[in-house]
Amino acid sequence: MHDDSALVEARLNRFVRERLQPAIYRATTPLEVTAWVVPGEPVSFAEAVSRPFTPFAVGEAWGRPWGTVWFHLTGTVPPKWAGLAETRIEVVVDLGFTVAVPGFQAEGTAYNPDGRLLKGVEALNRAVTVTGEIVDMYIEAAANPNIAADFSFTPTPLGDLATAGTTPLYTLRQADVAARDTQAWHLLQDVVALDGLRRELPAASPRRANILRALERCLDLLDPDDVGGTAAVGRAALADVLASPANASAHRVHAVGHAHIDSAWLWPVRETVRKVARTFSNVLDLIDRYPDFVFAASSAQQYAWLQDGYPELFERVRRAVAAGNFVPAGGMWVESDTNMPGGEALARQFVAGKGFFLREFGVEPLEVWLPDSFGYSAALPQIVQAAGSRWFLTQKLSWNDTNVFPHHSFLWEGLDGSRTFTHFPPVADYNAQLSGLELARAERLYSEKGVANTSLVPFGWGDGGGGPTEEMIAAAHRTASLEGSPTVELSSPRRFFEAAEAEYAAPPVWSGELYLEFHRGTLTSQARTKQGNRRCEHLLREADLWATTAFIRSGAEYPRAALENAWQTVLLQQFHDILPGSSIAWVHQQAEREYARVAGVLEGVIEASVRALCGPGDDAILLNAGPYAQEGVPALCGVTQVADSLLGATIARSPAGWVLSNRHVRVTIDADGLFTSIYDRHAEREVVPPGARANLLTLHRDTPTQWDAWDIDTPNARLFEALTDAETVEQLDHLPHGQVGVRVTRRFGASTITQDVTLAQASSAIDLTFNIDWHERQKLLRLNFALDVAADRAASEIQFGHIFRPTHANTSWDAARFETVAHRWVHVGEPGFGVAVANDSTYGHSITRTAFASEADAAPRIGTTVSLSLLRAPLFPDPTADQGRHELRVALRVGASIPDAVYEGYRLNLPIRSLTGVGSTPVEPLLTVDNPAVVIEAVKLAEDGSGDVIVRVYEAHGTRALARVIRSFESAAVVETDLLERPVISAAVIEADDAALTLELRPFQLVTLRYRRM
Ligand SMILES: [Zn+2]
Repeated sequence: MHDDSALVEARLNRFVRERLQPAIYRATTPLEVTAWVVPGEPVSFAEAVSRPFTPFAVGEAWGRPWGTVWFHLTGTVPPKWAGLAETRIEVVVDLGFTVAVPGFQAEGTAYNPDGRLLKGVEALNRAVTVTGEIVDMYIEAAANPNIAADFSFTPTPLGDLATAGTTPLYTLRQADVAARDTQAWHLLQDVVALDGLRRELPAASPRRANILRALERCLDLLDPDDVGGTAAVGRAALADVLASPANASAHRVHAVGHAHIDSAWLWPVRETVRKVARTFSNVLDLIDRYPDFVFAASSAQQYAWLQDGYPELFERVRRAVAAGNFVPAGGMWVESDTNMPGGEALARQFVAGKGFFLREFGVEPLEVWLPDSFGYSAALPQIVQAAGSRWFLTQKLSWNDTNVFPHHSFLWEGLDGSRTFTHFPPVADYNAQLSGLELARAERLYSEKGVANTSLVPFGWGDGGGGPTEEMIAAAHRTASLEGSPTVELSSPRRFFEAAEAEYAAPPVWSGELYLEFHRGTLTSQARTKQGNRRCEHLLREADLWATTAFIRSGAEYPRAALENAWQTVLLQQFHDILPGSSIAWVHQQAEREYARVAGVLEGVIEASVRALCGPGDDAILLNAGPYAQEGVPALCGVTQVADSLLGATIARSPAGWVLSNRHVRVTIDADGLFTSIYDRHAEREVVPPGARANLLTLHRDTPTQWDAWDIDTPNARLFEALTDAETVEQLDHLPHGQVGVRVTRRFGASTITQDVTLAQASSAIDLTFNIDWHERQKLLRLNFALDVAADRAASEIQFGHIFRPTHANTSWDAARFETVAHRWVHVGEPGFGVAVANDSTYGHSITRTAFASEADAAPRIGTTVSLSLLRAPLFPDPTADQGRHELRVALRVGASIPDAVYEGYRLNLPIRSLTGVGSTPVEPLLTVDNPAVVIEAVKLAEDGSGDVIVRVYEAHGTRALARVIRSFESAAVVETDLLERPVISAAVIEADDAALTLELRPFQLVTLRYRRM
């Protein structure tokens, strides 16, 4: 026969657009509209409806950026609609929706007159079902600007209330009561499912032709002037092709309803609270209609917002959880970044998240759900298991810019050897709609074919919320078993993982971090947010420790509520668009305020605890919250005084510049403020390569091709200007404790950097303190140390340990890993000699092999450059990112082992705290450990309020370690627990006697101990 398939296709497209879609509503009638404009920030329903509403017309503009307008819609359902069969009566509202997807534009929340939240009113989901003859509904309309626009990354003033302006963004276009033709709607879903499938089938396949001819017969039978009246016969023409069952070998999709609601991003946290309410109410509306529908939502924080702000809705969620339709997922407080949170903080994500789900719903998610975070730490498999979880899910590595990740289901092995069954949905999307295209993609890309056959598809509008729609559920029902399509089962994360794990006997193993080859700038953007995280994590450690010590030693009240609130605030800021610096100005300004508030609270907790321990007085006490003795103060101790050594470091002026020296090291600083020599007196070795200079600041071009705050592009990392000119280099006088140093001042562009270089009496660490007044735009500031160390790999601290990464770029995987995360330190070494670089605020590092050429060498010598990415200044989404003052510290220690690097990381981040005006009682440590490889990372009271003491330790050196942990407080017994403080069978505790226990740890093992007090 003649091939007219292109003509049938064109005919179908036009019919759907011009006839079928308009036939969904049989009739509409306008509603009366009145409105009240909220003058400031959002208000409650009760407050809004008590205000005077004034008439408002369809066609009128509304909504200054971030403003809220309450619309009151009233009217009656025309009596003649009462007898209509196959009809659903709905209120249909168009707030001025654009082509952008929900969550990136105007959004509404519909309420009945009693204040019951009905559902969201959003682009692509704008109808609310009504019953009865009277329409009386409120819509809380949010004029959220579309910051993303078309993702052209154009700088916009809209992300800050102060600069967003007041011009209305939207026009109310529709407020009707309407009669929906359910047959026509179902016909449209049939056509969409079949046509979507048809487009993905091979051109020559009989199935593709069968579907096309069925669609053609359907078109023939539909009366263009009475689509509704002929929809049933049209559907009958499609019944056979819809009933044809899936192939026996079809890929099996578990479709999990989902809404990836970013806790803040191109909107502030306060808008996310409303997004959660809109999305969850959409979901409850769908659950009422479709009992087989299952929706999974992560982030205990989002449920907690609902509980606070929308208690009635929260109770409905609680009932849906009990019924199994609504599934708390993931178990973390938020979907956090996992590159930058410290070990204890990442653990607390699970303690707080799972704790909330267990307390409020009696359920415990066993999967970790992080579809969108920017790479995954090698510490996670162990943390996942320590939290009592079994599985891990993400899809983000499908965004890699260089390499295709080889597996979709696999065992992910962490740095300690823990293995977690992990799934990357091959649909490669967390906002799927269950379209034919997406389902075909999932089947096509799935890399475990032949040995396994099941994948998960998370469906529902995400990022800005919205969630699944009725159309998506219709698509799932039609593809449950449909010839040519993967089979689709509405499912939960747990059901998926149980099935996927059971069918896959020997999954492949991926060892180490899941590095995202993309968004490498998120390790540096918004430095103040990152510094706030680092500071608060360490203040939390101090506050937990001293409050616990005060509780035990002095019977002081444990400030549980203050600590819990502080932890939750810090955990929220670790969300994967806040800590990474990829949010609008509003979000980062708020994060900085929250960090300052939390720091104030924690300083108060620390001070009150120390006063409880030491009593009032006029003395001074020196406190060391770190795990190692420092400046003569033992670990976890407070002492009243330490002896100053008489041997100070020295400073001298020479023709070559300034020379700082002590018995460990001699540093020569030239007239440019750069290090021309660092001489290790013990190793008798020069560390700066001939002709090179260390402590070099470089200013790099930073104009990413896309995703400005997110990305550092390779060419830009290569293009830089060296900031060698110093305005002044001056000796620093009157430094405490026998320190010596110089201050280097540089000016460039509109910015100024002062850098204090200091050397202490008894340390081989050179401390660098930066005060930066930063006014560059689209520039990356790096600090570089050229090192005559031929390291083939670099160690970087991560949570509860460190990982090694090659310094070369042999393979495409190595080359793509050109910007990497480290927490408090990095280390490069040769056998017997190494260099550590520690920091108190920085995460982004670049460590590369470098050929240093000089007249001293016949051929270039291969050394290492350690670079720290200190500051950026991207223009999108926050055009003011990183502008202004920054203070940060770096330490360079030569002749350093990895244990030395661990020590320096703690020293820089937990400096000795001096508190005056207290009594003279020293603070004895609650615990001591006899092996420096075994680090106490947290001391706190148990979450359950029992008064039991929780101690978290880990092996920090990458060795097998035997350690005695000696306590000096009353305890009836000690047990090993999981992160949720539930006893586990312990392999680590090999002996426990009266006051001590012996631990045997494998490299990087994490152990939680619970000391029972009664
Ligand atoms: Zn996200």
